[in-house]
Amino acid sequence: MNDIEISQAAVMSPIQDIADQLDLNGDQIEPYGAVKAKIKLPVAGHPIDQSHLILVTSINPTPAGEGKSTVTVGLGDALKQIGKKTAIALREPSLGPVMGLKGGATGGGYAQVVPMEDINLHFTGDFHALTEAHDTLAALIDNHIQQGNELNLDPRQIIWKRVLDINDRALRQTVIGLGGRTSGVPRQDGFDITVASELMAILCLSRNLSDLKQRISQIVIGYTYDKQPVTVSDLKVAGALTVLLKDAIKPNLVQTLDHTPAIIHGGPFANIAHGCNSVLATETALKLADYVVTEGGFGADLGGEKFMDIKTPVLGKTPDAVVLVATVRALKYNGGVPKDQLETENLAALQAGVVNLHRHVRSMQQYGVPVVVAVNRFTSDTDQEIQFLIDDCRDTLGVNAFDTTVWAHGGQGATRLAEAVVQAADQPSTFKPLYEPQATLTDKMNAIVTKIYGGRKVVLEPKAARQLKTFAANGWDHLPVCMAKTQYSLSDDAKKLGAPADFDIHVRELVPKLGAGFIVALTGNVLTMPGLPKHPAALDMDITEDGTITGLF
Ligand code: ADP
Repeated sequence: MNDIEISQAAVMSPIQDIADQLDLNGDQIEPYGAVKAKIKLPVAGHPIDQSHLILVTSINPTPAGEGKSTVTVGLGDALKQIGKKTAIALREPSLGPVMGLKGGATGGGYAQVVPMEDINLHFTGDFHALTEAHDTLAALIDNHIQQGNELNLDPRQIIWKRVLDINDRALRQTVIGLGGRTSGVPRQDGFDITVASELMAILCLSRNLSDLKQRISQIVIGYTYDKQPVTVSDLKVAGALTVLLKDAIKPNLVQTLDHTPAIIHGGPFANIAHGCNSVLATETALKLADYVVTEGGFGADLGGEKFMDIKTPVLGKTPDAVVLVATVRALKYNGGVPKDQLETENLAALQAGVVNLHRHVRSMQQYGVPVVVAVNRFTSDTDQEIQFLIDDCRDTLGVNAFDTTVWAHGGQGATRLAEAVVQAADQPSTFKPLYEPQATLTDKMNAIVTKIYGGRKVVLEPKAARQLKTFAANGWDHLPVCMAKTQYSLSDDAKKLGAPADFDIHVRELVPKLGAGFIVALTGNVLTMPGLPKHPAALDMDITEDGTITGLF
């Protein structure tokens, strides 16, 4: 059976039964139908440091697939099976890629969250609300210019674009306001995908409605003719935008195939944003469960680093253990094997590619958090290949690696991994941040490049160097840095696989995201509005009269 067939065959528990596992009574949830609910805020529960936080991250993504969400879900089920009160905290999938490339964000095989169709489609409407709020702000900006432009906004320096949750490359660059005096002021504009909106990052870093409103008011929307930043607070619309997000801020509760509670909320990009589910979702899970499994987007160099340096200072809790997901296939790909030959045993290629895993394990260890490796097993992997990785992790890195078969067997495929994670997470925390909060933006970028990517240094291209001076003058140089880099390589060149050395990272532009509270450093050509492939997944989808969906994964 494929992912969607397995999920359609699942018998889900009523959502109150899942809430009961977290001691949430009927007054504390708002059901959306029979098997989904929003959790009302604030949540009581126990102090978050009484719980154990497990971060799942991975090697660099490859076309071979790594299965981070699959392992996150499977590990959550395994922890429940060994008797731990567990909750999983995941991101909400973006609809754009669902119609484009096959592959959702609800796990796979027998390690999935359900109802997978709903979660991958409109779910509880959070992304639609975000899209509306984002575009409402865009409309208010253009209306302000139309109605006399009291704030002296320079239409050529508006940095707040529009968004849609659709992969639509034709909207990357647009011209708006055509049609004469009554149809707005013409200017160049463009669309990003909803998950790239700063509002998404803000929603995921907000602690409550007041914090959400405060962060929204700090968003820089553009500059005046004399280059002064203009914020949402100048436009006086933070209240209205917060109103549109009053339900989207509440975390969503669903379940795994094995009925483990899963809190799924928010989904910022892991390149131009920080790539983790909301602070409120993770905090809620930590208050209500004893073990919380969560993940960061892309590899440990992006989602992992950002979880540690951007999310944990807001959350107020650092991970107690890191699970690094690797696959035999992806490491062979890193070792130079083409995609169509990954099913043949090749220990030499595995040996050549395992350096990618080494680099990521070591970077996560720098935070002082114990690391355990999960080898996510595909059916074509041989016992020798799996054993090679287990031995290599022990001998080269001194870490435990486990043959993880959650895709085929659900939670039972990760029992030993779960026991090792519990043991690791029970150690007292020795967390240390990568950089001090007061360090300069350049020092922060250099810390990330040298300690996480294994590169030499950061090189600021002329525009970025100029911006750095302005940002310092604006008082923005103490904020954390969010690196927007390709996910495929540790360097800024997607083709450099394995563990490249002797490279610099070129930053071409800095973008202030003051509502989110970080400065984005753009490297290479990071797309914020994806396109559809030649054969979009949409071509294979259908629905029958009784509502059964086919071809969605
Ligand atoms: P990631 O979180 O790393 O993007 P996912 O967990 O979403 O990856 O998995 C991506 C796809 O790979 C899913 O369709 C899933 O079913 C598939 N997959 C994951 N692990 C395995 C496995 N061990 N064997 C076969 N397919 C797998």
